[in-house]
Amino acid sequence: MKFNTALLHPSPQSERSKLNDPFGSTLTPIYQVSAFEHGSAERLEKVFGNNAGGFAYTRISNPTVDAFEKRIAYIEKGIGAVACSSGMAAVTMSLLNILESGDEVIAGAGLFGGTIDLFHDLEAFGIKTRFVKHITKEEIEPLITEKTKAVFGEVIGNPALDVVDIKSVAQLLHSYRIPFIADCTTCTPYLVNAFELGADIVVHSSSKYINGGGNAISGVIIDNGSFSWDEKRYKGFAEYKRYGKFAYLAKLRNGLWRNVGACLSPMNAFLNLVGMETMGLRMERLCSNALALAQFLENDGRVTVNYPALPSSPYYRLVREQFGGRGGAVVTLRAGSKEKAFKLINNLKYAVNATNIGDVRTLVIHPSSTIYAHSSEEQRQAAGVYDDLIRVSLGIEDIDDMTADFKQAIDRIREE
Ligand SMILES: *Cc1c(COP(=O)(O)O)cnc(C)c1O
Repeated sequence: MKFNTALLHPSPQSERSKLNDPFGSTLTPIYQVSAFEHGSAERLEKVFGNNAGGFAYTRISNPTVDAFEKRIAYIEKGIGAVACSSGMAAVTMSLLNILESGDEVIAGAGLFGGTIDLFHDLEAFGIKTRFVKHITKEEIEPLITEKTKAVFGEVIGNPALDVVDIKSVAQLLHSYRIPFIADCTTCTPYLVNAFELGADIVVHSSSKYINGGGNAISGVIIDNGSFSWDEKRYKGFAEYKRYGKFAYLAKLRNGLWRNVGACLSPMNAFLNLVGMETMGLRMERLCSNALALAQFLENDGRVTVNYPALPSSPYYRLVREQFGGRGGAVVTLRAGSKEKAFKLINNLKYAVNATNIGDVRTLVIHPSSTIYAHSSEEQRQAAGVYDDLIRVSLGIEDIDDMTADFKQAIDRIREE
């Protein structure tokens, strides 16, 4: 089965809730309830003890959320997934499931603003992060110590748009028995299967391309069960050894994730299930629109363009090898000054000024005054967030309308 078919025809194991549906619904319905009734106290005891299938309480599991988890795990070629209330919750839980006070993480400096802020917040709990400019084996290796318990990186950095060579990084990390946690929000499973190249845990802000319509905040953590969690290094794993390759997911589901309560609502899981079915179609269009806009702006020459699938990008070769030449849906441009960047944004007729990516409509934002407003100047520089930078998240509009819109907006800032 190829990608688009797989999005519509999930594996037999994903069919549980459908089989239970007496009406043969083609989509898993929204089980908008908090609790599930069981015939006897004995039965509920078994459900609570993971000794019988079924659902007890929506914070722990729910049929609609379960269907979403199975669907994304299948598409990502994982053994299971845990859905979260937001992408940030997924990033946080993916890390805290393995870390303890005294541990260190190595992360890319070009991360999403919220993730950079999170690493700062974790310092209060004794978790230290060492940042590298780029996630490459050359930059990571000198920072590895006995305390390094994970490396975290965005496969396509948002908004720096640097691309991680997953295979080379994973190979290095596995020689030190360190897992690579890959934030695949911007690359999506349409561009690459990160597990096949060696990633150990995949996280998504499914608010973006998985949902696709900008109508629900959510996140998801997926594991393929390949990393072996040595209980000497990862002490919390001792009591989950009996779950074998499911240890990471079992620890997450029975531990911190459940107790923090960062669960996904059934309604949002449903919106993701609907949105996901068109992910392949949307990504095909979004990538071709992004490339067309990037080429148009580069030829126009009045703003500086960054897009990893352009031949002028240092990641051009890697994008061809790792993503089959597809560069994702985010393009950034530099207008020359903050003032010009603001004017350009204000002059756009169609592109919506909003803080999101992965919508069906084109969105633009000035990251340095918004998403990175809480970061220091040094952090902004390291993340490639310059004062004149505009991030464009392409939508599915007709590209001629979008290039015309950018052209007239640039014409107007040059006139003034
Ligand atoms: C948006 C985003 C997040 C955070 O996700 P939310 O759903 O907004 O909490 C994390 N990582 C990346 C790469 C993102 O783009």
